[in-house]
Amino acid sequence: MNFYAGPAVLPEEVLKELQENMFDYQKNGYSLIEASHRGALYDGIHNETVQLFKDIYAIPDNYKVLFLGGGATLQFAMIPMNMMRDGKTADYVHSGAWAGKAVKDAQKIGNVTLIFDGKDSSYTSLPAPQDIKASAASAYVHITSNETIGGLQWKDWPDTGNVPLVADMSSDILSRPVPVEKFGLIYAGAQKNLGPAGTTVVIIRDDIWESSPDSLPAYLSYKTHAEKNSLYNTPPVFSIWAINLVLKWVRKMGGAEAMKNRALEKSDILYSVINESGGFYRCPVDEKYRSTMNVVFRLNNEELEGQFLKESAEKGMMGLKGHRSVGGCRASIYNSLPVEAVEALADFMKSFAKSH
Ligand SMILES: *Cc1c(COP(=O)(O)O)cnc(C)c1O
Repeated sequence: MNFYAGPAVLPEEVLKELQENMFDYQKNGYSLIEASHRGALYDGIHNETVQLFKDIYAIPDNYKVLFLGGGATLQFAMIPMNMMRDGKTADYVHSGAWAGKAVKDAQKIGNVTLIFDGKDSSYTSLPAPQDIKASAASAYVHITSNETIGGLQWKDWPDTGNVPLVADMSSDILSRPVPVEKFGLIYAGAQKNLGPAGTTVVIIRDDIWESSPDSLPAYLSYKTHAEKNSLYNTPPVFSIWAINLVLKWVRKMGGAEAMKNRALEKSDILYSVINESGGFYRCPVDEKYRSTMNVVFRLNNEELEGQFLKESAEKGMMGLKGHRSVGGCRASIYNSLPVEAVEALADFMKSFAKSH
């Protein structure tokens, strides 16, 4: 039972299909990861993966789906490099550890306005969407849809008018339907909900990549990748192949709406155990914004938390330790994690509380 925060659990059937096709891809006599990224074999997978994204998220025609390297982390730099120009500023919502990293990189490129800073609440709450207003001369508004370490998640989207809304969806992409037309750019590292590490998916509106400055080095410009369908250089082919299979799994399961119901079902199970534990378990996050993907909780003291982690590991539950920067416990329950694993964790939490 894999509760790791990322790289994370993948559907068993996807792993098996990768295994079966690794040596001899669909009887072609060689592996897909040995195939040229300019050849017909890989080309089919590449374009199909773009199309699967467009179908599952109902992405409008004036957007491109890109597969880049460098992780979500490279996007922290590419976004301001491409979008913040001509004396403009950018607005950031500072909601926790990941937003903080995005802010730091953007400050190296240009002027950043923090239109919300969760510091006073130790990053346990978010602003109401209607309180998010773009400031004058703002090039974009950046939010982090799910703070993977803090365990908080946006439930409704702000309306930023003509100023593009940019979102880091690394840890909750495809966990629910998203009105893509409300965003200028969405990005996500693959290794939480989409597949193995190596690919970053960028969904970008045409007017944004079209106005990337020509002064940028090739790889750092969205224009390069959009004009070449993410084949300017060698894309992360293995990761894209696996994402292709994960997207087919999502489609088979019922798409984004089904993923949302699944996420709500699983997270409700765990938050109920926490809420009904009489204070034995505590979730520090504002109830309105508790994540459906990363459930964070504390026990009374670190010794008890250590005992909890030890006993849960003995029961085959991996990865429940909170991020090293905050401590405590965290159950990451991404799309692929079966409901049964969450039920087993809930049962364990109840019996652990009783016996301690
Ligand atoms: C994991 C994560 C990142 C970093 O992703 P990399 O692919 O490791 O660069 C960024 N933002 C969020 C919200 C994350 O969960």
